[in-house]
Amino acid sequence: SHDILAIGLPGLADDLLTRRAPSLGWTVHRPGPDGLPPPQAAERITAIAAAGSSPVDARLMDALPNLKIISVHAVGYDLVDLAHARSRGIVVTHTPDVLNDDVADMALLLTLATLRRLPAMDAYVRAGRWAEDGPPPLSRTASGLRYGLLGLGRIGQAIASRLAPFAGKIAYHTRNPVAGAPWRHEPRLVDLAASVDVLIVIVPGGDATRGLVSAEVLEALGPTGVLINVARGEVVDQAALIEALTHGRLGGAGLDVFADEPSVPQALSDSDRCVLAPHVASATVETRTAMAERMIANLQAVFAGKPPVSPVPE
Ligand code: NDP
Repeated sequence: SHDILAIGLPGLADDLLTRRAPSLGWTVHRPGPDGLPPPQAAERITAIAAAGSSPVDARLMDALPNLKIISVHAVGYDLVDLAHARSRGIVVTHTPDVLNDDVADMALLLTLATLRRLPAMDAYVRAGRWAEDGPPPLSRTASGLRYGLLGLGRIGQAIASRLAPFAGKIAYHTRNPVAGAPWRHEPRLVDLAASVDVLIVIVPGGDATRGLVSAEVLEALGPTGVLINVARGEVVDQAALIEALTHGRLGGAGLDVFADEPSVPQALSDSDRCVLAPHVASATVETRTAMAERMIANLQAVFAGKPPVSPVPE
């Protein structure tokens, strides 16, 4: 039998884990209001199943003396203290690949919706303005534009192949050029931003990428440029983004992620230059089921003394 601490899992994953647990001989615990495990179970708990948005810090790990695995229900594991996990020999796993298509679709959806101002058009029709005021202001074409990707990993490549049929040009910035990628690698992000119409952000979050999309990068993207972020809120300097949008120095933004979720600055909600989504790029029934299954498969493997299906690369 195995005892698992479930932290912040979205509904579908929490339900699946709870339903499967009895037949697997697992007992699922939940943290108390202090965020710590129930003290009477702490010794027995050997696994954490955590949402990508739930921090797993040293204090939590150290409240569990027999912790063996942290199974993250997300591809991004930036909220796990990896150095501490490593120092204690705790395995960390995540759910890569199964969400590539949905996240890439969301990047395209936000790109097209921002350029073609779909939410504003929808609101226009619903408010009866079409009949009252005639056609709305013109939007912008998406075909033939120059697209830039910040990040060309699993998801970035899925985005690029979706863009390819209608993009004018595609270029990308990563620290290391991707071998065999048919797109132009740009060694400096600011140069990429200056050379594209749309910049799509799809790098991991955390300290290494915090603020990468700076005021200078937004300035380079310019008054007709569009920023799309489906990565993590902190990768973009959100204050600089608001500043650029509200002063017309950036054309538009399509955002699935924010600096301090779930709070969204009023200036973004008020701006008709941006399209907003509540961090739902992977939130379909199909993908969330696949992510939950992978989270469980990683736990099963480690409980059985086997290598996990998808350990984090570090
Ligand atoms: P990968 O690890 O496959 O790809 C990451 C890419 O980012 C690589 O191309 C890497 O290239 C690049 N990169 C990393 N650090 C930097 C840096 N400092 N500067 C420039 N480029 C960098 O990850 P995935 O494609 O699977 O996922 C990417 C991220 O997307 C996840 O970590 C997650 O945070 C986010 N995500 C968001 C979702 C949402 O709901 N909105 C859903 C799923 C994922 P190199 O190492 O050469 O620099």
